[in-house]
Amino acid sequence: MKGRVFSGARPTGKQHIGNYLGAIQSYVKLQQDYDCIYCIVDIHALTTLEDTHLLKENTREMMLDWLAAGLDPEKSILFIQSHVPEVMELHTLLSMVTPLGWLLRVATFKEKVKLQPHNVNYGLVGYPVLMTADIVLYKADTIPVGEDQLPHLEMARDIVRRFTYLFGEVFPEPKAKLTTFPMVIGLDGERKMSKSCDNDVELAASPEETTQRIRTAFTDPARQYRNDPGHPEVCNIYSLHHFYNPDRLDEIATQCRGAAIGCVDCKNILAEGVNRDLAPFRERRAEIAQRPGYVDEVFADGARRAHVIAKETIKEVKEKMGLP
Ligand code: SF4
Repeated sequence: MKGRVFSGARPTGKQHIGNYLGAIQSYVKLQQDYDCIYCIVDIHALTTLEDTHLLKENTREMMLDWLAAGLDPEKSILFIQSHVPEVMELHTLLSMVTPLGWLLRVATFKEKVKLQPHNVNYGLVGYPVLMTADIVLYKADTIPVGEDQLPHLEMARDIVRRFTYLFGEVFPEPKAKLTTFPMVIGLDGERKMSKSCDNDVELAASPEETTQRIRTAFTDPARQYRNDPGHPEVCNIYSLHHFYNPDRLDEIATQCRGAAIGCVDCKNILAEGVNRDLAPFRERRAEIAQRPGYVDEVFADGARRAHVIAKETIKEVKEKMGLP
């Protein structure tokens, strides 16, 4: 029997090349060997969002990108977290077995408190419980994570073990599937690529927009003038060539070090590579976007299938907990 994968992502809207290289391409590959459930976790977004008017649009745009990238609703369950309300019910039930001390010690909670001292809501503290509910509601046993996310999964495993100890077995202990999520640095050359840092390249951007955007990128700070020799090993454009021009790495490095190529030319080569690589994705995305109601159908069908599993799990949980 195939293992069951679960992964959730916040509705950040149109995805960028960092999202694709970092996660989406792994999601697509996992479909070959696992039953996959991929969820846009809109409730999680409420813990930090103060302005929610973009949630609907962001969710749709994100799913368009997922579908165009190869997530297949025939193979995987693709849905929106809040469309299966049992997750909130399970969150409440699991919160009764989760010691508050565990949650207050979570490093990301402490970071969030510093980041948004004006909005330290209960949801921030309960975030790991909701995350656990996401996973175990669907009895997922395999969770694709990077090394940095292992502590979050460990908390989910602790909550499952405690539930099992108190009430008996309902959930499999979710196991990490360590996945290489390459950390893609943004165009500022400093921080992880992200929309909020405004240092990203959107997958769905036009070729012209992509070229313009890449032209704004920071490069080797030692290259002030065209004739200055460069240091590709410290240049973010060069690190992106690894993904988009892997067969030209030596040539570009040599030309950079010898100042035989300028940064503008080098960025143009990168933009050509990105546009070449993304052309089929963009074509598929435009085609899917034109199908009236298609994304809504995917969401509805995903929620229907997820709901079948969720209903059964909640029934078992309530029985084990002795709820009348
Ligand atoms: Fe970076 Fe290319 Fe400029 Fe060298 S030539 S510093 S690799 S952008």
